[in-house]
Amino acid sequence: KELLSARRSCTTCPYCGVGCGVKVNKEERVNPTAIRVNGDPQHPSNFGHLCVKGSTLGETLGEHGRLLRPRLHGEECDWETAMSFVANAFARNIDEYGPDSVAFYLSGQLLTEDYYVANKLMKGFIGSANIDTNSRLCMSSAVAGYKRAFGADAVPCCYEDLEHADLIVLIGSNAAWTHPILFQRMQAGGAKLVVIDPRASATSEVADLHLAITPGSDAALFNGLLNFLAQHNQIDRHYIQQHTQGFETALASAQHWSLQQTALNCGVSVEKLQAFFWLFAKTKKTISFYSQGINQSSSGTDKNNAIINCHLATGRIGKAGAGPFSITGQPNAMGGREVGGLANILAAHMEFNMDAIDRIGRFWRAPKVALTPGLKAVDLFRAVESGQIKAIWIMATNPAVSMPDADRITAALRKCPLVIVSDCVAETDTARCADVLLPATGWGEKNGTVTNSERRISRQRPFLAPPGEARHDWQAICDLARRLGFTEQFDYSHPVDIFREHAQLSGFENSGSRAFDISLLGQIQREEYDDLQPVQWPVNNRNPNGSARLFRDGKFFTESGRANFVPINPRAPEQKISNAYPLWLNSGRMRDQWHTMTRTGRSRKLLDHSEIAEIQINPRDAHKYEIKEGNLIEVRSAHGRMYGRAVLTEAQKPGELFAPIHWSETLAQEAKVSALTGTAVDPFSGQPEFKQVPVKLQLL
Ligand code: SF4
Repeated sequence: KELLSARRSCTTCPYCGVGCGVKVNKEERVNPTAIRVNGDPQHPSNFGHLCVKGSTLGETLGEHGRLLRPRLHGEECDWETAMSFVANAFARNIDEYGPDSVAFYLSGQLLTEDYYVANKLMKGFIGSANIDTNSRLCMSSAVAGYKRAFGADAVPCCYEDLEHADLIVLIGSNAAWTHPILFQRMQAGGAKLVVIDPRASATSEVADLHLAITPGSDAALFNGLLNFLAQHNQIDRHYIQQHTQGFETALASAQHWSLQQTALNCGVSVEKLQAFFWLFAKTKKTISFYSQGINQSSSGTDKNNAIINCHLATGRIGKAGAGPFSITGQPNAMGGREVGGLANILAAHMEFNMDAIDRIGRFWRAPKVALTPGLKAVDLFRAVESGQIKAIWIMATNPAVSMPDADRITAALRKCPLVIVSDCVAETDTARCADVLLPATGWGEKNGTVTNSERRISRQRPFLAPPGEARHDWQAICDLARRLGFTEQFDYSHPVDIFREHAQLSGFENSGSRAFDISLLGQIQREEYDDLQPVQWPVNNRNPNGSARLFRDGKFFTESGRANFVPINPRAPEQKISNAYPLWLNSGRMRDQWHTMTRTGRSRKLLDHSEIAEIQINPRDAHKYEIKEGNLIEVRSAHGRMYGRAVLTEAQKPGELFAPIHWSETLAQEAKVSALTGTAVDPFSGQPEFKQVPVKLQLL
C-alpha cells in the first residue's frame, strides 16, 4: 500500500549530478521491467525533461544480475553469519592494530543517509578518518578550490543562472553528453557559448567559439585572462576593494602571462584567444561551467582558483547569470561533501580542528572522534597494498575499474586480508576480489535524499520492494555499529531519523560561520520527509525557502568575510609525454553510458550508441601508425594497457587520443582505460590526474 501512494511516484534520477526529477508510471509498478519513467514537470532542476539515460531507467530494473543474498568466501549465507564475521574481524583488527587498520570506501551513488551513518561510525566511534569516496576522483579539486577562495565548500550558482547568463564558458566539459539537461537549459537561455577543451565534442560543435587548448594548460589561460582584464581596465575595483583580499599578489603571478605568451602556452591563436578575452571582459552575465576536465589533474585545485580569480576580479559572483559553477559528476557527490564522506573533512562541512572535533563529539556523544584527516583514495588503496589497512568495506562503487592504475588496485584488494563489498550488482571487477559480498538495495528501492550540483536536496523515493535479501546500506552499517557496541547512537528505524539528525548537526553551534546549514529541517517528521519538496541549502531561519544563489551580499566564509584571490603559478601535467610514450590519452564518458555500465549496460537502446570500447585518433596519427577505421589497437602506458577499436576523427588533434571510461574486465578483457592512468595527484585535493596520460599505441 505504501509503495503505491501517489506522492511516492516522484523520485530522482540516479545517474548524474544534474539530479533530474522523474515520475514513475504507477500502474505498471507490479512488473519492474515494464516500469516507465518520465520527467517530473514540477522538479525545478529539469522541469519534466530527461536525457536518454534517465528515460530508459525502467529498462534497467528487475532481478537479473542482482546480488540477492550475502556471500562469505563465495558461498551464500545469511546476514547474521556475514555480519558477525565482518564485526568480529573489524573488532579484532581495531584491537590489535588500531582504528586506522580498517577503512570504508564509499560512493557518490549512496544516499545522504547512508553516507551520514558510515561517516559517523568511522570518524566518531571507530576513531579513524580512513573513509573516502569515489567523489575524490570526480570533484575534490572543486571542493579545495572553493574552500581556498570562499572559506567554505559552497557552490555559488544555480541552474537558473544558465538561463540568465549572456555568456557561458564551458571548461573541460562536454555537457551536451555528460550533463545533457543542463546543456538544454543553456541553449534555451540563448547565451553565447565558448568551449575550452583540447578535443572537439558535441558541445563544441554548437559553440560560438572553441579553444582547443594544449592538454593541461587551463590555468595559464585563466592567468592570461586575469592579466588581460587588468591591463584593459576591465576589472571591478569597487568589488575587489569591498569584498576580496589578495588581488595584487594574484595579479603579480599572472602578470607575465601576456596574450602572446598565453596563446603560445595554450596552443591557440592570438586572434582566437583575444576574441575570448574580450567576450569575457564585455559580458557581465558570465558563467564559467566546469567539471572533470578541470578537476582530474595534478593541478586541478589551481585551475579552479585561476577561474574563480577572474570572477572575483570582475565581481561576477552572487548575481543572476554570473559565477564560477563547478558541476558534479555523480548524483550525490554533494551529499557526500555535506556529511564528511571525504577523508579530510568532518560532518556538516566542519574542518579537522579542536573546536569542531569537540563539537561533533558532544553532538554524537561519540567516544573517540578522529583527530586528524584520513587517507585520500589513492593513499588509502596504497595502505591496503602495503598491509597497513587490513579490512576495507567498499560500498556502491567499483574501484578495481575506476581508480587510477586499476590493475594495481585489483592486486592490492586480492592480497588484503578482508574485503567487504556491498553492491546491488552481483558481478563486478571489485566484487570478484571480495571475501564478503552484501546485497544492497538499488534505485527504486532506496529511500532517502540526494543533493545535486546546484545544492538542491531531493528525495529518492522507493517504489519497489527490495529483491531477495537486499538491505539498505544505512541498515548494514548500523548493524556493524551495534555489533561493535554502539547500539544507542545507531538506533535508527527509518531514514528520516538519520536525515533529522544530519539537519540538526548542520545547525548545531552554527552561528552563520558554516555554509552548510539545513537546520530548519531539524525537526522534520516522517510525513514531511515523505513529502519533502526539492530545496536548495542553506535552509535556515534566514533562508526558510532555501537559497538559489550564495554570496549575494558579498560576504564570504573566511575569517575576514572577504573572498581570497589565490596566486597561481601554472604547472604542466605531472605525467609527461616522451619518446617512449609520445601521445596524450584523454578519457571521459560516452553519451549513453554511466560509470562501469552495471546499470546502463542493461538497456539495449543505450548500448546501441556505442557497444565496444572505441579509441578516437586523428587521421594523421592513424596514417603514421598504419591504422584504419575499425582496426583493433593496443594503447600502452607505463602502468598498463588497453585494447579498443580505432575511430578516426578530426575531433582529436594529432598527438592526442580519447578513450571511454566505461569498460571493465567483467565486460571485456583489457578494455579498461584506468589501467593506464598513473597515480599523480593534486597536492591539495588528492584528485588523480586522469585526463593527461602519456601513452604509445600500436596496430594489432
Ligand atoms: Fe539523469 Fe543526468 Fe540525464 Fe538528468 S541529465 S536524466 S540526472 S542522467
